[in-house]
Amino acid sequence: MSKKEEREKQTGKVYLVGAGPSDVELLTIKGTRLLQKADVIVYDRLAGTGVLIYGNPEAEYIDVGKQAGHHPIPQQEINQILRRKAEEGKMVVRLKGGDPFVFGRGAEEAEELFRDNIPFEVVPGITSAISVPAYQGIPVTHRDMASSVHIITAHKKDGGMPERQYQILAKTEGTLVFLMGVTALPDLMEGLMRAGMDPMRPAAVLERGTTARQRKIAGTVGTLAKQAKESGIRPPAIILVGEAAGITGLEWYEKRPLAGTKILITRPRERSGRLAGMLRDKGAEVLEVPAIRTVPCEDQSRLLQALKRLEQYQWMVFTSPAGAELVLRLMREQHMDIRKLSGLRIACIGKGTAEILESRGVFADLIPQVYDGRHLGRELGVLLKTGEQVLLPRAANGNPELLSELRNAYSGEGMPLIDEISIYDTVPEKLPYIDYASELKPGNTDYVMFTSASTVHGFVRAAEGADMSGVKALCIGKQTEAAAKQYGMKTAVAREATLQAMVELAENINRESVWE
Ligand code: SAH
Repeated sequence: MSKKEEREKQTGKVYLVGAGPSDVELLTIKGTRLLQKADVIVYDRLAGTGVLIYGNPEAEYIDVGKQAGHHPIPQQEINQILRRKAEEGKMVVRLKGGDPFVFGRGAEEAEELFRDNIPFEVVPGITSAISVPAYQGIPVTHRDMASSVHIITAHKKDGGMPERQYQILAKTEGTLVFLMGVTALPDLMEGLMRAGMDPMRPAAVLERGTTARQRKIAGTVGTLAKQAKESGIRPPAIILVGEAAGITGLEWYEKRPLAGTKILITRPRERSGRLAGMLRDKGAEVLEVPAIRTVPCEDQSRLLQALKRLEQYQWMVFTSPAGAELVLRLMREQHMDIRKLSGLRIACIGKGTAEILESRGVFADLIPQVYDGRHLGRELGVLLKTGEQVLLPRAANGNPELLSELRNAYSGEGMPLIDEISIYDTVPEKLPYIDYASELKPGNTDYVMFTSASTVHGFVRAAEGADMSGVKALCIGKQTEAAAKQYGMKTAVAREATLQAMVELAENINRESVWE
């Protein structure tokens, strides 16, 4: 192998990936796949941190975010980071807001990589220039009104736009889209009018597009600067000029029941997606911030032994989807046929857990009326007969009420025979890229959803120091609520312990006052 070949083999690769405008689901499939397998993820603030949930949990996360006005990490240094990590043989995802090659200095980063002979690929993204208007019901082209789109930077880098450019833009019939233009807005509108544009031409400014807080201020070239100032428009925002800016009647975003509502969800990573999807279907902005992680116990010998002599049990109890999945996985690894369970009766704490088993063709014999440990214990206790044995593989630190209720309800002889085995731990999770305190500031997040008491504890721990008294917690059940109250949160509880009921709670809460 030549020196050059050797070097190329060792060098990693940099992917310049477009993250889309903010709505997490506008990340491309390719971008998602690359994030999942990245070794290093380099991102900035505009990229909309929500997409980072698709990032490899083991990756190194590097925040190179620029704050408006000052640049904590200079571009030169960002380039160095990309180069260094690639030279270490790492697979690097450089996430850029919107599309990587529409402003935002993606081109410069690519040029540097090219110059340094670092392999790279570009993964286009959905640019804010087109998607932010679309989320406001504004088509940037229209057969009758706008036959071209022009994307222009309004960044006042070198003292604003040259007069010559105003002359050209003022004559353009199409839609003008200005990026990075909030501070320059008055100058822009004046420049256009000076160059002869009709002050009555429609214009609009669109703030924080594709998020729950998206706003549109519409007027004309003559009025927009004043309106934007009065409304306190702040970056990120785009400015539209042209007939398209005046199009109304196609607003679709706000029509959905949870539009304008931002919800944080705290379920473990692998269970978060389904709830996120259900809420997004209703129009909510969802930020996935898993607050707990399940870690299988290293020593599973007790469970394995129990599985080998299943015939001695009459009941097997599952108290969480994670527990059910773990047991089924172990069975598969042991080449244990599902038919081995045929002699057992199966109890599940709730529908979610039962679904895991159903997906393997096993239907639960007992699901309590109310999906919690207390009710499960009570109902199982009533059914349990003298001499019957129960296999209970569950979390270390599982809810003690399950056992105490079971014993109370049991009417057989002697003590009920329960083989409780710890199979996993629930540990708190803190995401490196989430600014918890900022998410919880008034006006940023509407609700935080908790689907177990442990998610409450995990979240509070991750958000250490943040004020919880303003948090509106949507809780799956009474125990979860008790945990949330313990930290001073305002609470509301779902009518039953299902994801569907959680979504309904979020929908109804906008109308009803159910806070305690
Ligand atoms: N590459 C990005 C643009 C980077 S420049 C893209 O393709 O979208 C940053 C500018 O993009 C901001 O100043 C703002 O004008 C615009 N922008 C990005 N996200 C936005 C959003 N969600 N809402 C409104 N404007 C946005």
